[in-house]
Amino acid sequence: MEQLTDAAIRKSFINATRSEVSALNLPAGFAGLDWDNLDYLGWRDPKMPQRGYLITPLEGRAVGVLLRAPETSTPGNKRVLCALCQDVHSEEDVYLYVARRAGQSGRDGNTVGTLICADFVCSANVRQEVPATPIHPDPAAVTAERIAGLRQRPTQFLHRVLGR
Ligand SMILES: [Zn+2]
Repeated sequence: MEQLTDAAIRKSFINATRSEVSALNLPAGFAGLDWDNLDYLGWRDPKMPQRGYLITPLEGRAVGVLLRAPETSTPGNKRVLCALCQDVHSEEDVYLYVARRAGQSGRDGNTVGTLICADFVCSANVRQEVPATPIHPDPAAVTAERIAGLRQRPTQFLHRVLGR
């Protein structure tokens, strides 16, 4: 995705209050992020672990969603599939993240949830080397397809947050 500045990130949120946005802490290593290999930007707040952020390109601009992580991780999380990368081999925890809906609906308390890798490692997951198999003889094509899927699915989640 396109590199974003701190200011652009803070301007991107569709479901956060001004005070929530100003309290946001950027991810560790923000200055050295490998944007070319990120399909979305997602992170847990380094100082508020109950908070997550998901920033996705949508119709030419960056759109951010404030997420709430579950209070505790439940055992067996590894067996659920991340809705964004859908990586069946990943050993990473997957959380049910909940987002307040945008606008009045969110202010009325409505939320939407989605399963996402706890540490937002989807972009790395889909770039894992895949072995050639008789069903998938071209690993590069498989990887390209997985990346395309990961660029598509956060958009669908955004539409749910926006109530479209
Ligand atoms: Zn994932």
